[in-house]
Amino acid sequence: MDCLFCSIARGEIPSTKVYEDDRVLAFRDIDPKAPFHAVVIPKEHIPSAAAITPENSAIVGHIYEVIAEIARQEKLDKGFRVVTNCGEEGGQTVGHLHFHLLAGRNLGWPPG
Ligand code: AMP
Ligand code: ZN
Repeated sequence: MDCLFCSIARGEIPSTKVYEDDRVLAFRDIDPKAPFHAVVIPKEHIPSAAAITPENSAIVGHIYEVIAEIARQEKLDKGFRVVTNCGEEGGQTVGHLHFHLLAGRNLGWPPG
């Protein structure tokens, strides 16, 4: 399957790794929107947040455990934001479920 994040998860496309285990990979975003910007993905291909089902939703809980671990590792003590863009109007550009982890500046609210 031609999926950018599956290729990154397989190591075929290089990335700057922040965290990895058997189910999850986190790497630096190539076009960072904050001083710290990582993308956290399940290694399993799930197209978007709209494709979460009772069968595959356990990975979402694990990803939030991983996010808390990265926050400790990277000392994001002042706070951070987790964002999942979904679909065209949601701003999703890569069709593989991912969680943006942003920190290092005042992120503002609401998002644009
Ligand atoms: P989204 O627009 O929410 O689908 O997020 C996709 C994100 O992937 C964007 O923030 C891109 O900057 C990022 N991205 C695209 N290609 C790469 C890559 N090769 N390595 C790291 N991040 C990437
Ligand atoms: Zn994929």
